[in-house]
Amino acid sequence: MPYIHPEGAPERASRLGHVRTAMDPSVRQALESYFLPPAVSGPPPIADLLVEAATLPVSGLPKPAYAISIDGSKQEIEVRPEFPSARVGFAQVAGIFSQLDALAPPPPGGFVDPVAIAQATRAALVKGVVPTSIVTIRSGQTIHEAWREAVWELFTTCKFEGPAGTNTRLADVLAHVLGTPTLPVSSVTLERCPGRHDRDCDAGGLVVPLGGATCEKCGTALYFTDATNTHDEVVEFGSNDNALGRLMLVLELLTFLWQIRIFSMVDPGRVFPRCAFLLDGPLAMFGRPAGLKRHALRFLQAIHARELAAGRAGLPVVIGIEKGGALAEHAEHIREYIPPGYLLCLPDRYIREHVQHREGNRAYGYDTDYGRRFIYRARDSRTLVFSMPPMPSGDPTDDAEAVDLGHYPSLDTAIGLLDQVGTMLYRNAVIPVAFAHNYASLPLGTGSQVLTYLAQDALGAARTQVRLTPFF
Ligand SMILES: [Zn+2]
Repeated sequence: MPYIHPEGAPERASRLGHVRTAMDPSVRQALESYFLPPAVSGPPPIADLLVEAATLPVSGLPKPAYAISIDGSKQEIEVRPEFPSARVGFAQVAGIFSQLDALAPPPPGGFVDPVAIAQATRAALVKGVVPTSIVTIRSGQTIHEAWREAVWELFTTCKFEGPAGTNTRLADVLAHVLGTPTLPVSSVTLERCPGRHDRDCDAGGLVVPLGGATCEKCGTALYFTDATNTHDEVVEFGSNDNALGRLMLVLELLTFLWQIRIFSMVDPGRVFPRCAFLLDGPLAMFGRPAGLKRHALRFLQAIHARELAAGRAGLPVVIGIEKGGALAEHAEHIREYIPPGYLLCLPDRYIREHVQHREGNRAYGYDTDYGRRFIYRARDSRTLVFSMPPMPSGDPTDDAEAVDLGHYPSLDTAIGLLDQVGTMLYRNAVIPVAFAHNYASLPLGTGSQVLTYLAQDALGAARTQVRLTPFF
């Protein structure tokens, strides 16, 4: 926005202003001292990192028959443009359940068409609004307090439909993710009072049960959902698009993990191993909520352990697919050196030297990733960057020098799936929409319908439509 002169004429930067700045000796000196990594040319040193997909260890999983794909989106809206501009943020997570097995007979009157899917992704699994600037829930509130209250509201009103008519609030999903898939935590401990942002409170070690608490020192309401730390990125003035993005990532993560848990409970032996779960984006958490990534990994490893204990092959395919960012660019850059049908392992040393161009020992994604990234050049010769959680234990950052493929037991099944669906993933911006356009699909929002079909498929019974209880 241009600065307005007292006389009323807007002050604009001179068109030659930057030239003058650039000619300044101190600017020149600074520029000359910068380091620009050499442009990559010639073949990258990847000979020892390439693995032919056909030689990967066999997962023991059947070919995926169902895909469950999840994607979050957000938008900050100006509700009053005059200064100070008031904004609210919308965040939502949509999911699609798709039948990949083209040989199966079409379900009678079952799956919806892509137009209905497009509408359904708007009526998402999770959706909510939070005040992001000036707007508050009650008068006298600060934006931090309003944000935290709105997040708590969102977590208590959004519910996931599970097997046998169970409904689970997002807040209870969070309690399970912080605990285990079967045992939720009943309270969280906040390292520092969230009142430090607007009340200068220095209280710490605050125990907050699921129902909430009050800080004895500053009197601010404490919410269980404060444990997600999205409020730490809220700024008092201006746009809060950044904090909104973090909140969306949290919602996406919880939705993804909970869908995996739901499907693990629907006739687990027959249905779950044939499912593939895809997240649109890397398996990573950024910013202040990044601490959740450790819980996410343990959650997935616990489900893996439960599958193994039941004599099955472990966690089915769980991957994140990223189409943007440094690694996706790098993959495009070096694709001609990766033969089709080959996987490129990405140990930390390689990412550091050839993608990040930096020294030191800190692993790539140390603070953020719960999956290790791989590049796969599909048989149709396109490249895909995906991440996968390590099993049965350990962290993706364990692979400093070389990637231990034994920690990624479902790789061969995942790659088979990527060869099957790769082209459409590459072409389409949003993975759930890509699936909806290419396969018979149902929005995950209609939980009981999806679960009924699955149970009927597992039992070899004909599919029937769920009788919905009408609202009056
Ligand atoms: Zn306090």
